Amino acid sequence: MTQITTENPSVTTAPLSALDRCDSCGAQAYVRATLATGELLFCAHHAARFKENLAGTALAWHDESSRLLDERGA
Ligand SMILES: [Zn+2]
Repeated sequence: MTQITTENPSVTTAPLSALDRCDSCGAQAYVRATLATGELLFCAHHAARFKENLAGTALAWHDESSRLLDERGA
């Protein structure tokens, strides 16, 4: 069984920027999944799609998709 922890000191928690791109489609990334093998970036769409598969192995799941709502109103 893999234990999910959000307190791993090696996990990157820096905010995502407009330069971060979804690994699946190239759209702006709003989610960073940290795995034992490295990091994956996802747009909100692909994050929702892959979250269930990765939840068991991800060390951290950094989700900024709520910013989408903020930026729409700005
Ligand atoms: Zn995507």
